[in-house]
Amino acid sequence: GTLVELLESRLRDIPDFPSPGVVFKDVTPLLADGEAFGAVVADMADRRRGTIDLVVGIEARGFIFGAALAQQLGIGFVPVRKAGKLPGRTRGVSYDLEYGSATIEIHEDSFIGGERVLVVDDVLATGGTAEAACRLLEDGGAEVVAFEAPIELEFLHGRDRLQGRDVHTTLVVR
Ligand code: 5GP
Repeated sequence: GTLVELLESRLRDIPDFPSPGVVFKDVTPLLADGEAFGAVVADMADRRRGTIDLVVGIEARGFIFGAALAQQLGIGFVPVRKAGKLPGRTRGVSYDLEYGSATIEIHEDSFIGGERVLVVDDVLATGGTAEAACRLLEDGGAEVVAFEAPIELEFLHGRDRLQGRDVHTTLVVR
C-alpha cells in the first residue's frame, strides 16, 4: 500500500477532544507502529536530505517527528515551546486562537544566522501555530525552507496562512 494508506490506517479519531464538537486526530497508534513511524520519517528525510541545516520541532508532537528526522539526517534539532517552558533566555511570539491567544518561544541563541531550517509538527490545523513559528524563526535570523506535517486538516485552511511557503503534508483529511 501507499504511505497515505498506511498513515490513514494508523490514525485514530477521538470525538469531543479537547472540547465538545472537535474530532481530534490521534497519532499515538502511528507512533506505536514502527513500520508506519519509520516510513513517515524516511519520507521526510528523502525529501529534505542535503537541503537543511537544522530541524525545528513544535511542542509537543512536532518534537517526536522532528527529532527522529534530525537524527536520520545527521543534523541538529531545535525546540519551539509553549511559553515558560524553555530554561534559557527566550524570544516569543503571540498569535490568536479561536478563543484568546497563545505564545510560543525559542531560545534566543538558537541561530547564528542564515541556517536553513525545516519546521515540523504532527498536524497542520488552522495554521496559526505554524505561521507564528515561521515568523519567530525568521525574526531570529533563520531561513525557513519549508514546513512539514504528516497530517493536514484541510477544512481548517491552514495553508492559507502559509501562503508563499513550501508546505508539505502527506495525509490530507477533508
Ligand atoms: P493550528 O495552530 O494549526 O490550529 O494547530 C496546530 C497545533 O495543534 C499543532 O501543534 C497540532 O499538534 C495541534 N492539533 C490541532 N488539532 C489537532 C488534531 O486533531 N490532532 C493532533 N494530533 N494535533 C492537533
